[in-house]
Amino acid sequence: MGKEKVFKDNIAKDCFAYHKGRCRALTVKQCEGSGCSFYKTKYQQEQDRERARKRIMSLDKGLQKYIIERYYMGKNKFFELEE
Ligand code: SF4
Repeated sequence: MGKEKVFKDNIAKDCFAYHKGRCRALTVKQCEGSGCSFYKTKYQQEQDRERARKRIMSLDKGLQKYIIERYYMGKNKFFELEE
């Protein structure tokens, strides 16, 4: 799927981080719309997360554990499928 920006009144309502007029990813008061370099659709977000998960799971167990504890606050629910 391509990156299809849907902007109305310069708000990216199809962005993964958009929720009720606010951004859940950035500390901005209002969605920055077409000027935002962090925009991506929910589908793209899922694809990116899955790619990251696969990459982390390809590393040795010690490094996996370090990354999960450091960047996922020890919540390895996201990684359970390959344990
Ligand atoms: S990441 Fe950018 S485009 Fe997406 S909701 Fe936040 S401000 Fe808007």
